[in-house]
Amino acid sequence: MVDIREFSVSALAGNCIGFFAPMNGGKTQALVDELKRAWYYDCNSIAYNSERNTRERDAIVVNGEFRHPAKTVGSVPELRTDLEKRISQLGASQEGQRGEVVIIDDISHHRGWPLRVVGIDEVNLFSLTASEAREMMDLMNWCIKKDIVLYVAGLIYDFRHLPFGQVHSLLPYVDIKIDKKPACMVIDSSGQKCVRTAKHTQRLWKMSYSQERGLNDVELPRVDFVDKDKKPVVDHYVAAPFFDQTVLIESGQNAGRGRNVVYLPVCTECARLPYREETFRVYDAIVRGGNPEAVLSNPQLTAGILEFLCSPDERWGKRESDGRIVALSHYRNEVGGFSSL
Ligand SMILES: [Zn+2]
Repeated sequence: MVDIREFSVSALAGNCIGFFAPMNGGKTQALVDELKRAWYYDCNSIAYNSERNTRERDAIVVNGEFRHPAKTVGSVPELRTDLEKRISQLGASQEGQRGEVVIIDDISHHRGWPLRVVGIDEVNLFSLTASEAREMMDLMNWCIKKDIVLYVAGLIYDFRHLPFGQVHSLLPYVDIKIDKKPACMVIDSSGQKCVRTAKHTQRLWKMSYSQERGLNDVELPRVDFVDKDKKPVVDHYVAAPFFDQTVLIESGQNAGRGRNVVYLPVCTECARLPYREETFRVYDAIVRGGNPEAVLSNPQLTAGILEFLCSPDERWGKRESDGRIVALSHYRNEVGGFSSL
């Protein structure tokens, strides 16, 4: 694996470096380390995250604790406007000592140093659709031309092990791709912590959250694990069903065991995706023009699956005005993935 720290900021100028890992797999830590490292080369850095992450406002958070100052933006064009503003303000000749702290929009920079390092956390949340991915590609190109080192960190796959939005389409434009490989955090049925390498993000629900979601008749497998403080969390969480929404971020700052939804890095053997097969059986009935409501014997499960399939954010199918459910057609999009109209 490449150790990016062997290269100076100027050696990396005009490159895009991607840190990819499952959730809680160390990619944000790697990103923050690089943003801080810029300081040792007399360079300014700036971090951005997406306002789709309602939990982390104007900060990127490592391990739910350390907060690195960041600018939260709603879109790539908004990011670009902010970045250009900072570059121009820092480049303008100003009175004062070179290196002294100047604050632009609540974020500290150093006077007279170039803004050479840009970090984007959760790049997958900036590329859910083809047009968003296109905007991100344009930003990557722009950063190359400006000799900026652009770091992106994020997930390539969602909790279902499926491509996260259109993030795949960015990978050919990442010059150095670094896959962080955390350990699987699951405690198995004999009480032993798994020691295999994690490849996936496991989404877990607190047991009581199933009832809150109206799924008390839907059985979900229990998953025990070791949390970030190395404490075992036993008999509190179950695997979220395959038909849960793709982007699910709880608001509020409270990390740890109280959360309704948590994410773990897990290996393939420990990964649990309950109702994957059932979701595809219901979807298949829709595609073939059958009755999706007649496929499974559990009406609550069927309702949960249909709600997912027809959600405007997921777009596998849609409910017509006469109540019929039809599959949405998917077409090739400009970034090489598939989208529906
Ligand atoms: Zn495992």
